[in-house]
Amino acid sequence: MSKDYYNILGVSKDASDDEIKKAFRKAAHKHHPDKKSGDEAKFKEINEAYQVLSDKQKRGQYDQFGSSFDQAGAGGQGFGGFDFSGFQGGQNGFNFEFGGDGGGFGDIFGDIFGGGRGQGQNQNQGKGNDVSVDIEITLEEAVVETEKDINISISSLCSVCDGIGAEKGSKVESCKTCGGSGQVTKQRRTILGTFAQNEICPDCQGVGETFEKKCSACGGDGKTKQNKTIKVKIPAGIANGQTIRLSGQGEAGFRPGKGNSVAGDLYITVRVKQHSLFERKGDDIIYNLQISISQAALGDKINIPTLQGEIKLKIPSGIQSGKIIKLKEKGITHLQGRGKGDMFVVVQVMTPEKLSRSQKKIFEELKKEGI
Ligand SMILES: [Zn+2]
Ligand SMILES: [Zn+2]
Repeated sequence: MSKDYYNILGVSKDASDDEIKKAFRKAAHKHHPDKKSGDEAKFKEINEAYQVLSDKQKRGQYDQFGSSFDQAGAGGQGFGGFDFSGFQGGQNGFNFEFGGDGGGFGDIFGDIFGGGRGQGQNQNQGKGNDVSVDIEITLEEAVVETEKDINISISSLCSVCDGIGAEKGSKVESCKTCGGSGQVTKQRRTILGTFAQNEICPDCQGVGETFEKKCSACGGDGKTKQNKTIKVKIPAGIANGQTIRLSGQGEAGFRPGKGNSVAGDLYITVRVKQHSLFERKGDDIIYNLQISISQAALGDKINIPTLQGEIKLKIPSGIQSGKIIKLKEKGITHLQGRGKGDMFVVVQVMTPEKLSRSQKKIFEELKKEGI
C-alpha cells in the first residue's frame, strides 16, 4: 500500500524544492476542507506527501525505501494517526465510533467495543506496542458523556533526538549486523529439514542504517518513558467492561533513523462502579421503593431519586407490594442510536414491625372493618 507522494502532488521525481512547494500550495488550496470543493481525505494526503517531500532527509529516505517508509507512517502522529478500521469485537460484533473534528495530535477519537480484543504484537513493522488501562466511573457518569483524565507512564518519542535514536551530528553508517540490507538470514530447523529464512534485522529494524553514536538520552531506542495525561471522552451509555480505543496513543513506535514511527493504540477499559440505590439492567434502571401500608392504601406523592435527579412520583391508591411502576426514558442513554432505557420502580409495601399503643388501636379498628 505504498503511496506515490510525487503523484499526489503532481510533480516529477526530480522536482525541485520550489516546484514541490508550489504544487503543494496549489493542491492544498484546491482541496482545503473549508472550501466547497474541499476534500478532507485528499487534503490530508497532500499534507502527508508534502511533509515528506519538503524534508530533505525524509525525501531521501522515501526515494530509497519507498513503501517500507510508508509503512512506518510518514507523517506519524503529526497528522493524526487515527484510524477507524471497523474493528469488530465482542460476541455481538458491536462496533461503535465517536469523534470530534478531524485534526492534529491530541484530538480525542475513539471507538468502543464490548468484550475482549486480540492481543499480540503489532503487525505493522516499527509500530509501537498497544497499552491497556482501566478506569473507574460512577453510574451517574456513565449516563452522560464524561471526560476523564488518564495519567500514564508511557514510552514516548525521545524529545532529545525526536525519536531518531542518534546523537546530534552523528554519522549515518551502514548497519553492521545486516550489512545494510535490513534483513538477516536465520536457519530454521524443522522436521522437514533446515530452511533459511529472511527476517527483519533486529538492530536497524529493516532500515539498513544505524548511527555512529546513539542518543545518550534514550540509549538509541528513540523513546523514553514519560508521564502523560490523556483526556478521554466516555460516551453516554457505556457499560461496565466496554473498551475505548484511542488510536495512536499507545507506546511510541521506533524505526532507527526515522523517528515519528506509528504509535500503538491505547485501550481503555471502563469499569462502572456499583450504585448504592440503582441496579443496572442493560440500559434500564431498577429501583426498589419501600412504602408504608397507609401510603399503599391511600396513595401518595413522594420524591424519589433518578439518575437525572429527584422527581415526584405518584403512587396510586391501592397499590400492591411487588407492583412495578415504569418511568419512561429515565434510564441510560443507548450507546448506539437514539433514546434511553427506562427506570422501573419496584414497590415494596412495608408491614410495621412495632406498633405504638395508638397505632395498634387504629389497626384494630381497621381489622373490625375487614381491612
Ligand atoms: Zn533519544
Ligand atoms: Zn541491520
